[in-house]
Amino acid sequence: MNLENIREEAAAETSPGALHQRVHSAGGASKQSRNVVAFKFGGSSLLGADPMLHAAGLVRAATRASNVAVVVSAMKGVTDHLLSIARALADGRLAQARREAELVLDLHLDVLRDLQLSEENDLRVRRELQLLGRDLLHEVPARGSVAAGAELFDRLASFGERFSARLFAAALEKSRIPAVPVTSSDFVLTCDTFRDAQPHLEQTKQRGRDVLLPLLEAGVVPVVTGFIGATPDGRITTLGRNSSDFSGAIIAHVVDADELVIWTDVDGIFTANPNESPEARLLHELSYDEAHALAASGAKVLHAKVLPLAAETEMVVWVRNTFNPQARGTRIGSPRVQEHPATAPMGKSQHGGAA
Ligand code: ASP
Ligand code: MG
Repeated sequence: MNLENIREEAAAETSPGALHQRVHSAGGASKQSRNVVAFKFGGSSLLGADPMLHAAGLVRAATRASNVAVVVSAMKGVTDHLLSIARALADGRLAQARREAELVLDLHLDVLRDLQLSEENDLRVRRELQLLGRDLLHEVPARGSVAAGAELFDRLASFGERFSARLFAAALEKSRIPAVPVTSSDFVLTCDTFRDAQPHLEQTKQRGRDVLLPLLEAGVVPVVTGFIGATPDGRITTLGRNSSDFSGAIIAHVVDADELVIWTDVDGIFTANPNESPEARLLHELSYDEAHALAASGAKVLHAKVLPLAAETEMVVWVRNTFNPQARGTRIGSPRVQEHPATAPMGKSQHGGAA
């Protein structure tokens, strides 16, 4: 089975039915032959149609050399908004909560409009967003009373990533990259500590491979929701605020990615906050221990659970700037083995780009 052909044909025809067909004819028969990278995009990288299309271009470039799994945060500000709706519900401010929930749906519909998809795709994605919106509004009744416990907070918070994954998959399709949104609560299994749930990694890996590998094998980019999982009995949980970096590492582990790239809005990891101290220096290479020490000293590096998992699974983590992809970013990993100059061109790395 020739994966290149599959990719080209799939790019020409990206309706969900065709993708399904593609996945089923490719699945099982072929072994995954290309390396896999995981890309995680943060909320500021997804804030509107133009940033989404720009980020989609980064994925498109990477798909030339690798199979790519994407993990997304909610659009910036959306999780805060959803949690304020949960608080309004808890305080009995139902009408206000309802209005706010309608605004959340409208915000995502506006991004869809700005993506300017073909009429057919626009209709399909609009329907998906409206179904999600209906589920959201179902949680936010205009009258009556609501039991607003931690469980409801997580259910409400989960909508941000569920909206953004659908929009980002649409942005990829517009960029002629076959993609499908995947809701991580379908396979990320957690304990039932709502708002700070711990994933069961081994079970998550087993279940996640069944979902993600057939897609990767068929050259389809899964766009997985960060932040959310589910208890064994199917109740939605979240892994804690700002945990979608951690979700990125979990998904990278599930698909045995060689590298996880955390795409954010700064050029990498600095010695100090570059907005506050002029002598802050960008760090190009860090060992897991060095990155860990930096994080322990209070530097805002990555979500605290990323490095332990990356070190344990020997996954290379890059921190790179979505808005300045020419910059090489920071590489965290085991020190590179010195390559022979005749066989390894200087400064070339798979996803590091030019320094
Ligand atoms: N959207 C979630 C939050 O705002 C997760 C994340 O962005 O990392 O906490
Ligand atoms: Mg974040």
